[in-house]
Amino acid sequence: MLLEPTADGLWCEAGGFHVDPWRPVPLAVVTHAHADHATPGCGRYLASERTLDVMRVRFSKDLEGSPMDWGTPTDLGRCRVSLHPAGHVLGSAQIRIECDDDVLCVTGDYKREDDPTAEPFEVVPCDTLLTESTFGLPIYRWPDPSTVFDKMNAWWRENAAAGRTTVFLSYAFGKAQRILAGLDASIGPIGVHGSLVGPNSVYTRAGIRLPDVLRADADSAAMLAGGGAIVCPPSATGTPWIRRFNGPEGARMGFVSGWMQVRGRRRWRAVDRGFILSDHADWDGLISTVRASGASRVGVTHGSSEVLARYLREKLELETFVVPTRYVGESPPTSASPNDASTGEGVEDPREDPGEDSREDKGGAA
Ligand SMILES: [Zn+2]
Repeated sequence: MLLEPTADGLWCEAGGFHVDPWRPVPLAVVTHAHADHATPGCGRYLASERTLDVMRVRFSKDLEGSPMDWGTPTDLGRCRVSLHPAGHVLGSAQIRIECDDDVLCVTGDYKREDDPTAEPFEVVPCDTLLTESTFGLPIYRWPDPSTVFDKMNAWWRENAAAGRTTVFLSYAFGKAQRILAGLDASIGPIGVHGSLVGPNSVYTRAGIRLPDVLRADADSAAMLAGGGAIVCPPSATGTPWIRRFNGPEGARMGFVSGWMQVRGRRRWRAVDRGFILSDHADWDGLISTVRASGASRVGVTHGSSEVLARYLREKLELETFVVPTRYVGESPPTSASPNDASTGEGVEDPREDPGEDSREDKGGAA
């Protein structure tokens, strides 16, 4: 196969590069800037321009990277490599690798729903498809995102009328900007955690329309308390930082994630509402993508790999294999921990520590 699993991640011998390595390597081709796909410290990166922008905001502004235009091949060793939109988050790409008449496509994380904050998914015809399967169980079928945003805005309106601050818990890059783009700013002021500021700037520079937001801090607390909505990572819950935004009747927490489809998972955190909004393909999205690719061999990675692989083998009569992932045994479907960083799906990045803001409290701020 064109890609082989190694201790550093997927390695392409014919092209001399790694795909989404989890340890520093000389040359990394990266699908997107979530922490479980983009690792700092590599010699050089090839990725979409937006992915490099986000990585520079999150890792280092001096990061050595060359942007690849959508669909324009680059020769690496004996391979022709090109990027195609994955629809997961801004800049997220599938990687198409062509070598000796063999075409392999790595999807990275992807979704098929409309999302005004990400380039729409493109079907890539190939011989071998490596697909993610974060939500690779038939129970996962997403509602129409527009109905979810209607519910989120209605809940915010209700909370504001009752003097309760509304808090949406979400991953700081990708999901958070999708939420911001879907909120109705006429309801009240919107505040964001400090970890959203960098990613937000990349979206705005890319021409994605986000509402005007306040950085949620001591200065904006009085304005946000009660009628405002705050978007922040789950790690901010229970901190002094979040409590300073409580309205006269307190605050309500909503968790925005595909995991909210499973009732039991709502107990993961002390949240008042769960909103089912995912940046990953649901079961039907996974199956239809595999079919559309025309691939005869399908590698499955991330999440419920075995279940999806068995379905593809038995129902679609495809050759399948399971690709090892970085956090083997720790992915959310088999874990009791909400703090798993393996999917970027409503879970927190260990680097997204609200501590910086929390520490401001020690200075006696409101
Ligand atoms: Zn991701």
